[in-house]
Amino acid sequence: MQNQWSAVNSGPLTGWGRYPVVQAKTVRPENWSAVDNYVKNANSDTLIARGKGRSYGDASINDNGYTILLERFDRFTSFDNTSGDLHLESGVTLEEIINIFAPRGWFPAVVPGTKYVTVGGAIAADIHGKNHHRDGSFCNFVKSFTVIVASGEKVFCSREQNSDLFWATVGGMGLTGIITDVQMTLKPIESVFVEKTEIKAKNLDAVMSLFDQHEKDYQYSVAWIDCLARGNDLGRSILMLGNSLTKDDERIKHLSNPLSLKEKRQIQVPIDSPDWLLNPFTMGTFNSLFYAKQMSDHHKGIANFESYFFPLDAIGSWNRLYGKRGFIQHQTVFPEETSREALKTLLTLSSENGWGSFLAVLKRFGPQDGWLSFPRPGYTLTLDIAVKDGLFDFLKELESVVLNYGGRIYLAKDAFLSADGFRKMYPRFDEWQKVKAKYDPKNTFSSHLSQRLEIR
Ligand SMILES: Cc1cc2nc3c(=O)[nH]c(=O)nc-3n(C[C@H](O)[C@H](O)[C@H](O)COP(=O)(O)OP(=O)(O)OC[C@H]3O[C@@H](n4cnc5c(N)ncnc54)[C@H](O)[C@@H]3O)c2cc1C
Repeated sequence: MQNQWSAVNSGPLTGWGRYPVVQAKTVRPENWSAVDNYVKNANSDTLIARGKGRSYGDASINDNGYTILLERFDRFTSFDNTSGDLHLESGVTLEEIINIFAPRGWFPAVVPGTKYVTVGGAIAADIHGKNHHRDGSFCNFVKSFTVIVASGEKVFCSREQNSDLFWATVGGMGLTGIITDVQMTLKPIESVFVEKTEIKAKNLDAVMSLFDQHEKDYQYSVAWIDCLARGNDLGRSILMLGNSLTKDDERIKHLSNPLSLKEKRQIQVPIDSPDWLLNPFTMGTFNSLFYAKQMSDHHKGIANFESYFFPLDAIGSWNRLYGKRGFIQHQTVFPEETSREALKTLLTLSSENGWGSFLAVLKRFGPQDGWLSFPRPGYTLTLDIAVKDGLFDFLKELESVVLNYGGRIYLAKDAFLSADGFRKMYPRFDEWQKVKAKYDPKNTFSSHLSQRLEIR
């Protein structure tokens, strides 16, 4: 019999942020029985699933064992054109779902800022979109899935059946096993267009009141923040609100097919940006220009789904813009009561210390059920920070601010959080760990993230 690890490749592997880099052994199985075999014969080796590798930090890399690439599991099993119920394999990407179902009038109810993620990765991180305040996260639209657990057994789970495994896998970062097939529900759409309203806010207080004032009337809301602005301008931003357009809307009525997706060309970033490009001056200029580009304080327009939901997908390999050493994405959420003070503190720290970001994004979350799911009611801030000397100390400082204000850091983006900080931020971890121990007593499923956070 052929050695089960014969298809192994070795080499450097990273998440989307290109930090940290590990020497990884990867396998790309052809069918589920091969995956089963890997799991059953893992012995003392550890395994972690990987979808499209769009988590930023170290969730889908494993330097102490094997990384199982699941892109080949991309088949659709069935679709109910009345209910929107879709049965598919976990390696199917949101891009594939959109390409096939948007022209038929269906769309994933929750999408992140890129369509290049797999359904397995979306469940494991319980991802959120611009509509979290209304609809919650991706798993709110997942009915059930099957997991290959450490014994090699395939366990079907849903909110009713084996619900402990269901809730531990949602947001569980691949640490309960490998999700094979999924039943989820798509939402009906009448067009692939959004009416967007952009409103300028002169500082953080202003943007928070705009969220309060307008959000209930919009399906989607997100604000871009100039995270280098200081003093009275701290938190100056552009709030971007959106609602899907119906086919009868005056502005698109003339289109022969309002569900048609336009082919979009992608620009590639050919080389890594040199380090000198990322300095407080270039970032400050970029941020000021972005804020100034919108002349009026209130602007309305129409965007297609592609540019509204996935603007960064138009630039291939944009993660190279942060240079060879990579970058981290630091996403936090704070309770409503502490959000204002916490955000002021984080923004002040990053602008005063020159840890600027081309992109800082503010969103509002509603409630969420998953035990390790990141969202909770309150405001969430995302900062992109290039890896350079002193970053670890800065992130330690941010971690204590996050803890002080009762916030938490998103594991799908994280590469630095401490084991102790993680336990304080995720209060249902004990409950989760019991289920991990039940289905994975020898800690077969393990990643660089779980080793750093001492999850076993
Ligand atoms: C440009 C960009 C924008 C983004 N915007 C958002 C956003 O708005 N909201 C948001 O929530 N996230 C966002 N993300 C993060 C992204 O949605 C998540 O990291 C997602 O998990 C990536 O999916 P993936 O298929 O690439 O998974 P990977 O990165 O390959 O893996 C992520 C985790 O899922 C696990 N996993 C993958 N497949 C399986 C499986 N079949 N079974 C069990 N576990 C599995 C892995 O072990 C790992 O722990 C963004 C990422 C990028 C690059």
